[in-house]
Amino acid sequence: MNLSSLPASSHPLAPLGWDEGWQAEFAPFAVRDLVPGRVVRVDRGLCDVATPDGVIRADTEFVVPRDPLKVVCTGDWVAVDPQSADPRYVRTLLPRRTAYVRSTSSKRSEGQVLATNIDHVVTCVSLAAELDRSRIERFLALAMSCSTGEALLRKTPAPPESGARPVVVLTKADLVTDPVTLAHLVRDVETSAPGVPVLPVSAEHGQGLDALSAVVTGNSTVLLGQSGAGKSTLANALLGTDTQTVRRVRDVDGKGRHTTTTRNLLPLPGGGVLIDTPGLRGVGLFDAGAGVGQVFAEIEELAGRCRFQDCAHTGEPGCAVLAAVDAGRLPPRRLDSYRKLVRENQRMAAKSDARTRAEIRKEGKRRHAEGRAALAAKRGHLR
Ligand code: GDP
Ligand code: ZN
Repeated sequence: MNLSSLPASSHPLAPLGWDEGWQAEFAPFAVRDLVPGRVVRVDRGLCDVATPDGVIRADTEFVVPRDPLKVVCTGDWVAVDPQSADPRYVRTLLPRRTAYVRSTSSKRSEGQVLATNIDHVVTCVSLAAELDRSRIERFLALAMSCSTGEALLRKTPAPPESGARPVVVLTKADLVTDPVTLAHLVRDVETSAPGVPVLPVSAEHGQGLDALSAVVTGNSTVLLGQSGAGKSTLANALLGTDTQTVRRVRDVDGKGRHTTTTRNLLPLPGGGVLIDTPGLRGVGLFDAGAGVGQVFAEIEELAGRCRFQDCAHTGEPGCAVLAAVDAGRLPPRRLDSYRKLVRENQRMAAKSDARTRAEIRKEGKRRHAEGRAALAAKRGHLR
């Protein structure tokens, strides 16, 4: 059967997100007899790729080495060589539509791609503990910066509307029995996340599951949140399976520690996929300036009305931001959180700039040495 002549919607990979766009991107590889597939998990340079012929184990070594942002990641669409040895080879990575990138740690300036080609970033926040608004703002800033995927591979800016859409899920909603309190909490989180849907959900009682199901079905969704937020329970409820058990079974064969940090792409019963991110302690901002701006849209809007363009909102005359705080229209906590995230993002940007500069310097030295060697060789030749 010639799959490339099928309409994208009847392609065997359609439930995993295959569409006309991917079909078009893949066309040049189809004529080379490569097979399309979506990466369902990655570990130690190998990955599992879901293809029309089932899951294939493949080597990812082909990709531009050393750039952590270009390493094959869960969610990627790839072209696999069906003729190559076992494990087969991934020959190319189709340009990413979106990529969720966090910084690996505060000391280094490297980004780590957690998931790619996602439509929704669902941040899970447990109602069992006191709301940590600043943490929600951090997760959302990163979620809203999630449109850089294509830029990472193509070096062209992604179209502005191409980002993944953020959603906040307030988990364990059954623990808040008073509906007025629950509505209050939802509104509270909505003010930390202007324009972002906030859904209270109980995986245990089923409350809110239909609404969330409607969001994720037919799309690619990554589930994020603190450990213990209820991600696995929620994933199980949405998937109608018990992946938790799968994980426990894997633990028995000694791979437990590893599987807890692997991100898995899991097909949803009604179409679409979930990518779970177990064992994620936190997320550091990476190139998230635009996201911070969106999460704190009202502060950026106020800042535009400060008397000085470079106002730091720390006591300058005519500061519209501090005026809003004084008038009780902007919670001081939110301004603090904004400042922290702006600073963190600037620090990261400065570090990665420094790293890029160092790399350019190194490359320059290498070229210079090569040039001299070539020149010396030429002279030797002439002599
Ligand atoms: P993860 O670390 O984010 O994957 O969190 P888990 O799914 O493992 O859940 C952490 C704890 O929260 C477990 O003890 C769950 O039983 C509990 N939990 C998860 N969802 C709910 C829920 O909807 N209601 C209640 N009451 N507890 C829940
Ligand atoms: Zn100001």
